[in-house]
Amino acid sequence: MVGETPITVVNVGYRSTNYWVISAGTSRLLVDIGWPGTLGIMKANLKRMGIPLREIRYALATHYHIDHAGLAEEMKREGVPLLVLDVQVDAIPVMKTWIKPGDNYVDITADGNVIIPVERSRQLLSQIGITGEILHTPGHSDHCVSLLLDDGSAFTGDLPPEIHAFDNFVALASWRRLREHRASRR
Ligand SMILES: [Zn+2]
Repeated sequence: MVGETPITVVNVGYRSTNYWVISAGTSRLLVDIGWPGTLGIMKANLKRMGIPLREIRYALATHYHIDHAGLAEEMKREGVPLLVLDVQVDAIPVMKTWIKPGDNYVDITADGNVIIPVERSRQLLSQIGITGEILHTPGHSDHCVSLLLDDGSAFTGDLPPEIHAFDNFVALASWRRLREHRASRR
């Protein structure tokens, strides 16, 4: 489409977890937010990839497990608001039950959280130049969401691949939903 900034995708992950920066020019979204106690690694990876922290407009956790949302509060302190979908709100306080004392986890507060219904995601993303939507895709946990860009790329967090999900009907339904939405945007 004429006038739209092309979307670029960079992986800033570490310790066998992917953390994605989706960018429309210098307007950026971080998808999945680091292990607890690793803010230094995250910042170093962003810097190495030429991504200034201040250009990240939101951080989105596909789900609230410590390897996907462990730095959420510290990123807020760095100036990055946390984008939370309505289906995820109740899972946030549960996450800390998995934290061990040595993890250096900083608990997620309500300050700086931007909570929206899943149905509003396309509108919010368009405000930062990203054409796509966030879908509720349970299957790994009940509160998992996926980012689906209009170019067809999907960021599904830990949603088990279909080939491994033959007896996980919730996950299979999520893959079906992703496919339907993808097809409807083409
Ligand atoms: Zn997980």
